[in-house]
Amino acid sequence: MEFCPKCGAMLLPKDGVLECSCGYKENLSADNSDYTIEKDNIKAEENVKILGEDIDLGPGVTEICPKCGHDKATYELKQTRSADEAPTRFFTCKKCKHKWREYD
Ligand SMILES: [Zn+2]
Ligand SMILES: [Zn+2]
Repeated sequence: MEFCPKCGAMLLPKDGVLECSCGYKENLSADNSDYTIEKDNIKAEENVKILGEDIDLGPGVTEICPKCGHDKATYELKQTRSADEAPTRFFTCKKCKHKWREYD
């Protein structure tokens, strides 16, 4: 804390200068009045990665792949013969993409 050498009042720092109410001014010695404002340069990095294996190609079912043993597959219904018969489900393994048909 600094005091005015002229009147003894407390000096108040203002704009890099110690200023007294009596008019006395004193430059702040080593202090640089240039205050640098550091802005936070936060870069919003949107790393939206689309992983192919997480994309559902169709309705997911729990079905054991006869090829690799993976238990997640997608299926699609296909009308094989006539419209009177129930459509056959064809599975596609989510892991190895192996395709097989449902056995009745
Ligand atoms: Zn003073
Ligand atoms: Zn598989």
